[in-house]
Amino acid sequence: MAEGKGTVIPIARRGLMLVISSPSGAGKSTIARNLMERDRHIGMSVSVTTRPRRQSEIEGVHYHFVSQREFERMRDSDSLLEWAEVHGNFYGTPRDPVELAMSQGRDMLFDIDWQGAQQLQDKMKADVVSIFILPPTMAELQSRLHRRAEDTEEVIQTRLANSRAEIGHWREYDYVIVNDDLDAAFDAVQSIVKAERLRRDRRHGLFDFVSTLVASEGR
Ligand code: 5GP
Repeated sequence: MAEGKGTVIPIARRGLMLVISSPSGAGKSTIARNLMERDRHIGMSVSVTTRPRRQSEIEGVHYHFVSQREFERMRDSDSLLEWAEVHGNFYGTPRDPVELAMSQGRDMLFDIDWQGAQQLQDKMKADVVSIFILPPTMAELQSRLHRRAEDTEEVIQTRLANSRAEIGHWREYDYVIVNDDLDAAFDAVQSIVKAERLRRDRRHGLFDFVSTLVASEGR
């Protein structure tokens, strides 16, 4: 894809796979949503899940909600790029939309857990840029989960219990952001995206650009 406004000269580059993980309630979904709203060069990967739909969620927008049987069919036919069991439900990334986006040089955002991040890093290597979002305190994490008020107390307790294990994987990510201020955390994510898009090894169009530049020097 050619680079967007503000880069003066458009130069073709590979799409990047932006993976964002965090324990539930650390603000990852809000950051992902903001990024989707403000950056038209990035698309969101919509996962399949066996988790029941929350009232605020829309089929095909937040997730594709599928039965256990359908999930197993997709997994066994290699239609998922990665998959994992998280908090007792299954989640997976459909392969086709990602392969299409990458072949067209478009960027994609993945809101997935550490297990999915590891699988994508293994399979897609340099195309993956991973960010881990930490809450400022465990008390804040707990209060955010309660404020969301969309899950039962039992579900909230499971998620809290799992959050320490999730946090234990912070070292496996390229970037780590402590979200004590949403605007600042979002700014940091935008800066990462901006810089990663400029990486030399991602911009195959540079070769032609520089060749032309050097050949035309002084004329
Ligand atoms: P939630 O149920 O709150 O929507 O998501 C629970 C966890 O599952 C979150 O950490 C989220 O990032 C993760 N998740 C969502 N979709 C996927 C997916 O396709 N693959 C993996 N590995 N994790 C996912």
